[in-house]
This record gives sequence, C-alpha cells and structure tokens, in this order.
Amino acid sequence: MPDQPPSRAASLAHLHAPGLAKGDPLTTPLVLSSMFHLPGDPAGARQYGRYDNPTWEAVEALFAHLEDAEAVIFPSGMAAISAVFLSLLKSGDRILLPADGYYTPRVLMERFLGNLGIAYDTRPTAGFLDGGFEGYRLVLVETPSNPGLDVCSIAAVAQAAHAAGALVVADNTTMTPFGQRPLDHGADIVLAADTKAPNGHSDVLFGHVASRDSNIVAAIREWRKLSGAIPGPFEAWLVQRGLQTLELRFERMCNSAEIIAARLAGHPAVRALRYPGLASDPSHTLAGEQMLRFGTLIGLTLESEAAAEAFIASCPLIEAATSFGGVHSSAERRARWGDAVAPGFVRLSIGCEPTEDLWRAIEGAL
Ligand SMILES: *Cc1c(COP(=O)(O)O)cnc(C)c1O
Repeated sequence: MPDQPPSRAASLAHLHAPGLAKGDPLTTPLVLSSMFHLPGDPAGARQYGRYDNPTWEAVEALFAHLEDAEAVIFPSGMAAISAVFLSLLKSGDRILLPADGYYTPRVLMERFLGNLGIAYDTRPTAGFLDGGFEGYRLVLVETPSNPGLDVCSIAAVAQAAHAAGALVVADNTTMTPFGQRPLDHGADIVLAADTKAPNGHSDVLFGHVASRDSNIVAAIREWRKLSGAIPGPFEAWLVQRGLQTLELRFERMCNSAEIIAARLAGHPAVRALRYPGLASDPSHTLAGEQMLRFGTLIGLTLESEAAAEAFIASCPLIEAATSFGGVHSSAERRARWGDAVAPGFVRLSIGCEPTEDLWRAIEGAL
C-alpha cells in the first residue's frame, strides 16, 4: 500500500528532521548545562537543569514516539519504579506486586515504603488474576516475568483491576515497545529499565515511564523535578543513540532466541526450558495473543549448580554477568540472588552475535 504511513521503527530515525533549520546538525546535540539564559519573567522557558534539558527532551520525544504516549525519563529502571510509587501512592494504600518478577521493587517496599504506611502483597504472574484486585490502589504486572518467563494477560488484569479501582502499571523491560505494547492492552502506565535492550550497549543505567493520562504524567514529572532523581544529559544522549538501532538489535536477538530455544529444547543436557515462543511452553498461547515477539530471554535448567556454572564459564560467546539486553549474549544462575528457581537454572540473554556462531558456542559448552 503506497499510502501507508511508515512504521514507528522507520520514522524513528527521521523524527526530529522537520524541526531542523538550514545548517543545523542532523544528530541530537548533547547539552551539558545546569543554567539557561533566563532574563525577566521565567515562564515558558527552560529554567534550571533539574527541571529540564534539551537532550532529555530529545530522548523523551523518542520514547513518546515508541510508546504512543507522553514519556518521562529517569536515571535507572528503579528510579522510574520509585517515581511511580512515590508520586501516586499515599499512606494507607495497598499495592500488588508479582512474586516472581524483578525482586528490587519488593525490597523497596519492605525496606522503605512500608515505613510510609504503604502495604504490599505478592502473587505469582501465572495466576495473577486469581483472587481479584479488590482493595488495591495499584497493581504492577511484569510479563513475561523476570526470570521465570511466566505470562499473564495485561488486558484481563487491566479490566479486573480497573473494575476494582486500581491503577495498572506494566514493567515492560523484558519486551521493549517493539515486543509488547501494554498501554494498548489497557495498562495505565508502562515503565522500563532502558538499561537493558533499549540502550543496549551495557554502558548506561536508564529508565522511563509513559502514560496516556496527562494527570499521571504531570505527577511523575513533578516528582522528578522535586526529588532530584534526574538523568545525566550524557546518559540521555547515549540512550537516544541506542534507541536508533533498537528495532534492528531486538529483531536479531528475538530471531536468534527463537531458533536457539527450539534447539535447546531437544538437547539432552537441558532438564527444563522456558521460552514463550515454544509451542510446548505454558506461556505460549497468551504470549502469541499479546506479544509482538517472544523476547530475548531463555530460561534453561541444567542438571546442577556445577553444570550451570561450568556452562556459563566455558561458553566463549556468553559473558557471565547479571542484567541482560546487551549486544553480547550473557547469562547467570539466578539462584545466586535468591530467586525461587532451581540451582541449575540459567537466565540466558541472547545478544546480537550471528545466530549460528552463537548456537555453535552454546552447543559446544553444553
Ligand atoms: C533491570 C530491571 C529493573 C531495574 O532497572 P535498573 O536500571 O537496574 O534500576 C526493573 N525491572 C526489570 C524487569 C528489570 O529487569
């Protein structure tokens, strides 16, 4: 169809072109400034580096384009999560977190938000709808969950949670806006650790929050300005650079993950395997309905802790590291952090290496 507008991925690279004057740089400038020229009435202009920055604005425009929603950036994924909790919750509220999701939000509640009178419960992602959402002010979903890769229906959670009066927040870190679009399924807020695939080069921590509700965005923006949890302009600049190749990297990573997961499923050293793209996976049907891709993470269980450590150590194309989403493949045994998984469970993050090289290295190490 010749009159079809270019996709989000295609137009991303050309987003700021219409605003350029003759002679302007084609690339996004890195602006390092705490102060702005501000004579007289300060209204309507950039005022101070804790409130605003031109490089932030450029990155927020990219996230807004990707999420189809207004976006606010943060110096890490946890800063984004903290901003959502602290700007939208008050004493007496109760929230629901995934029992099998990223563990730091639970620790944050335990250590600090409980002291402010905010209570929390946890529930496994696979049964997230069981028990309903009555009494909750906010519900956080993480699907697929990290590291177990269980999936829940964002649309079904949103419908039931909204009926109970709760806000629905989706941590979309494992999928990126190219793999899953939680706001389109009814979530009120999407957030992510852009530390992972969106930046993609393992050299920055970063996060963002996006919402189509202007009151929510205003509260989160005000929280950032007052709390001072602001990203550095250089980190923002690196993330806009990373985002320009996100679609390309994510495609390669997801394609490789699909091929490698299918081969791992038939390997005699693998005792159990989780990947939402496998027809045999308990997440598969829901994943096919709600995800655009099946993701870049594979959960594989080897015979023992020793077998898992030996696999990670001996594979020349896998870095032993926590975190995921980099151009290089990486892996770790999640039981070392206390996640409720088998001692031989390895979270494998598929990187951008050529697929067959990566498979040969993995097969050799197994
Ligand atoms: C890594 C991660 C976070 C936290 O991000 P940081 O940038 O490390 O603060 C939050 N949620 C999920 C699902 C993550 O994987």
